[in-house]
Amino acid sequence: MQRISRMEERINLLDFSPAALTAWLVKQGEKPFRARQVLRWVHRAGCDDFAQMTDVAKALRARLQATAQVRAPAVRTATHSADGTRKWLLDVGQGNAVEMVFIPERNRGTLCISSQAGCALECAFCATGKQGFNRNLSAGEIVGQLWLANRLLEDEAGVRLAPDSHYERPVSNVVLMGMGEPLANFEAVLAALQTMLDDRAYGLSRRRVTVSTSGIVPAIDRLRDACPVALAVSLHAPNDELRDELVPINRKYPLADLMAACLRYLEDAPRDFITFEYIMLDGINDTPEHARQLLALVREVPCKFNLIPFNPFPGARWQASSPQRVARFAALLQDAGRVATVRKTRGDDVAAACGQLAGQVRDRTRRTMISIQEKAA
Ligand code: SAH
Ligand code: SF4
Repeated sequence: MQRISRMEERINLLDFSPAALTAWLVKQGEKPFRARQVLRWVHRAGCDDFAQMTDVAKALRARLQATAQVRAPAVRTATHSADGTRKWLLDVGQGNAVEMVFIPERNRGTLCISSQAGCALECAFCATGKQGFNRNLSAGEIVGQLWLANRLLEDEAGVRLAPDSHYERPVSNVVLMGMGEPLANFEAVLAALQTMLDDRAYGLSRRRVTVSTSGIVPAIDRLRDACPVALAVSLHAPNDELRDELVPINRKYPLADLMAACLRYLEDAPRDFITFEYIMLDGINDTPEHARQLLALVREVPCKFNLIPFNPFPGARWQASSPQRVARFAALLQDAGRVATVRKTRGDDVAAACGQLAGQVRDRTRRTMISIQEKAA
């Protein structure tokens, strides 16, 4: 009889990329096709019970039972907005929690997931950045969000899946736009992306998976070489002086380098444009002059703009631009022949907009508190 190890000692199969899972099974003397079976059960059927994996050989099932587990983050709170947006706060241990948001639309379901608990990059307008960095999520905690969201939504709808079902799953698109900087947690994000794209697992197309980055230039090149997916870059400012202040990583990788990295990325990207995210801060980056500078900056880069209404949070220094200012800014970009959309704010009633639950997460650095105190003083 094989000894059953304690839960925390067992390998979490969600941590493996498909290639790593195959290698792990082969090392145990299994044939590579076993990896396909296991991947399909775990990711396509959302199964975490090895006993149910009926086409997997009995001996392997017993071995998995003794040494492995399928463990996604636990739900701490779940909220349901009137517009259908769902938001979960997920427990990732040691007092840390991350956010996950599902946005259903007519022809797609987009899941916004987190890559780190907190973030070290300290963008001035971001609630996550204010919270400071706690830790990187593991690959299993990243892809586990997709595993979990599909399962929660299917459970609710009473759907039970088999590994060969052709049922369309609730999550059709994934964006890494929750907490954290995905490219600062490269290896874990890469393994999670590989699982998302693999036909034996989720089989999402590269165009339906988007990594959003604040602009870590060498890691943009690495992503292009290792696993090109759709890329969104958080630009937020049209010149280095302002961007140095809003997005401090700009001091290390200034705009000229970032634009060059975007062009290199497009050589291998699944989409033929970069999405530039641009948060609209009243009087700070939203004047016609800023729009003109922005157009000059991206002159050679095929791109689309996504203008994001700023979500204020306690202690934030700025205010959101008025809808009129946002519309004027968008019109200037559109008049120059660029695509510019304004991000709809969804799920406001459950604080589902970016980073808004972060304040409820334990604040290790107490930076939020300090800035609130400063304001009060
Ligand atoms: N670290 C990555 C991805 C996570 S942030 C990045 O910076 O791109 C995802 C998006 O939310 C980014 O475009 C970020 O700039 C934006 N964001 C952060 N704080 C926000 C706020 N208070 N209001 C609106 N958008 C915000
Ligand atoms: Fe980090 Fe992105 Fe927030 Fe900047 S905007 S602090 S990179 S999560």
